[in-house]
Amino acid sequence: MQKKSEIYRGKSKTVYCTEKKDFLIINFRDDISANNGMTIQKFDGKGKINNKINYFIMTTLQNNGIKSHIEKQISDSEILVKNLKMIPIECVLRNRSAGSLVKRINIKEGIILNPPIFEMFLKSDIVNDPMINESYCETFGWANKHHIMTMKYLTHKINNILNKLFHDIGIILVDFKIEFGLFNNEIILGDEFSPDVARLWDITNMRKLDKDIFRQNSTGIIQAYELVANRLGITFS
Ligand code: UDP
Repeated sequence: MQKKSEIYRGKSKTVYCTEKKDFLIINFRDDISANNGMTIQKFDGKGKINNKINYFIMTTLQNNGIKSHIEKQISDSEILVKNLKMIPIECVLRNRSAGSLVKRINIKEGIILNPPIFEMFLKSDIVNDPMINESYCETFGWANKHHIMTMKYLTHKINNILNKLFHDIGIILVDFKIEFGLFNNEIILGDEFSPDVARLWDITNMRKLDKDIFRQNSTGIIQAYELVANRLGITFS
């Protein structure tokens, strides 16, 4: 399928239409952003690594019964995906306390959350992606009861699969953010799963292997993302 015009440029990915309206091409760029896009930097090779990690995770989820928008990898940094009607909600799952949760309720980082916490945030940069609930979704028409129930169910199911996957390679899945969309009226996993949208800690020393390295102005982000990819068994030729 051919890449046609650019239809959306996000903070780290660009979306193109194709000659078929049901399919899009996503390009993973080397850009990384923090502070709601206020801080942006480029790291050579990040797009390729994230494209590979995302493809691996989405395929693993697909093999475990979770439908995703992924069709196929078409180059080092590009994938062909189904054109979903995206639901403007970020679904966050937390196995341990970190990030905004730590600030919101003033607890220590790293506390095991049992049962894991499910949260929803509105995708809206103008108001800094505020936390929302089911009542907001229904009233403002962002998603109906059935959509929310399905997204919550799928997010927990995805957590069960990925928690084990990462645990088996010596990585703690602290938290992650995923997004869903509709394709022929069915809720399908869209967007991406990579160290840009998840917190991943090395079990042996609690070292951060994710975007927090950039958020906290540390070094070695590419090496950390590569380590995640290598442990997942992903090779770079
Ligand atoms: N996250 C994301 N995009 C966002 C906000 C959060 O991918 O716009 C991810 C983040 O990387 C983490 C999880 O969602 O893995 C929970 O993020 P949190 O609410 O703690 O916000 P943060 O402090 O990361 O902004």
